[in-house]
Amino acid sequence: MRKLSSAAGSLLFLLATISSISGGLAAGPVNPASGSDEQTINVILMIGDGMGFSQTTLARMDKADRNLALYENTSLRMDEMERAGYVSTHSANSLVTDSAPASTAMATGEKTNNGVISQDSQAVQGIRDGRNLTTILEMAEKAGLSTGVVTTTRITHATPAAFYAHVDNRDNESEIADQLLTSGVEVALGGGLSYFLGGNYTSPAGGKGKRSDDRNLIEEATCKGYAFVFNGTAFEELDVENTTKLLGLFENSHMLYELQRLNSSNREPSLADMTGTSIDILSRNPKGFFLMVEGGRIDHACHERSLDNTSADTLAFDEAVGRALDFASSNNRTLVIVTADHECGGLVLQPADLDTYEAGGVKPVFGSGTTKTEGPRYDFITEMEEATHTAVDVPIMASGPGSELVGQGRMDNTDIFLVMKKALGL
Ligand SMILES: [Zn+2]
Repeated sequence: MRKLSSAAGSLLFLLATISSISGGLAAGPVNPASGSDEQTINVILMIGDGMGFSQTTLARMDKADRNLALYENTSLRMDEMERAGYVSTHSANSLVTDSAPASTAMATGEKTNNGVISQDSQAVQGIRDGRNLTTILEMAEKAGLSTGVVTTTRITHATPAAFYAHVDNRDNESEIADQLLTSGVEVALGGGLSYFLGGNYTSPAGGKGKRSDDRNLIEEATCKGYAFVFNGTAFEELDVENTTKLLGLFENSHMLYELQRLNSSNREPSLADMTGTSIDILSRNPKGFFLMVEGGRIDHACHERSLDNTSADTLAFDEAVGRALDFASSNNRTLVIVTADHECGGLVLQPADLDTYEAGGVKPVFGSGTTKTEGPRYDFITEMEEATHTAVDVPIMASGPGSELVGQGRMDNTDIFLVMKKALGL
């Protein structure tokens, strides 16, 4: 068992102190099971995969066309949030995490090993199972709340999977898809059609399924009462008022980068629209809801050292954050948390002219997987084609009831689970 970090220790103390002084958080009672609509707290957790401080800064600069005069008055939607802080992201077996244990930490409050999805640190990726850890989504389901997972990656990818599945290997996406169907989750939107269909079935997006068995999980989902959509038109025409369970899978693998999506005939929904529709469906539950939204491909863009896609996908994620904040401001009963699972790429926002800051511009480069050379500062030679995750702390922002616990010094990613659990009264 790992020792609690000092950050986690102080947060636990703070939680205990707040409970003993006021009998609950200042924003009001937090027991959704008590039946009164007034007391319902919803939690929307928004994860920018690979989104460090450099990525959010780059997105803000690009929103201002990298123009200094405009930049001074430019902000992201996530900049509006009431609290801000920073989070350490190490996993049980590495200072540099991958998405699986980072998401597990947020979903369950426990550190596990790289590659492992919501099992404890006895699990070794692809070698042996550990004990299943109960997730915040499962706790919410059990308490009668509605739940949802939304992402731009495959819905079976590590970050969303850690909220509803338990496997020793993040690559076992057929098994993860099975577990999505038994999780009770009301809304699941993203990519990943291939893992829902056996090889004998043709995917609505073309091509054959990738499952090793001969199951058709899409048919099984519709039998369980899910409305199923696989393109933007069907998504837009959905009778949201009369939809209680929704499975939307818009690509065989990941959904498109935002820049591709805007130029595509495929008409995939935006992350913001998927977030809005999810909130519309989930918020009809008088007991409240838990929703996880991932801007999942910021990470991919950083791995690929694509500045354009990093920036555009971060801005698309920020627009989704805006939808959550707009909903939250309409009811004052919703905790919104925005954070990342880890930074990716070691993105450096260096001056456009390496010899002088006075030139005024910025020239971003991805530093990870490179070696610093002799010569001007921040002069790198690229060694690896793909950039990697880094160990640097990531941002966290929070607004709404329960957000008081964020921004009181360093947090560990496991603390995010505690903050959400407290807010939901679970
Ligand atoms: Zn990640």
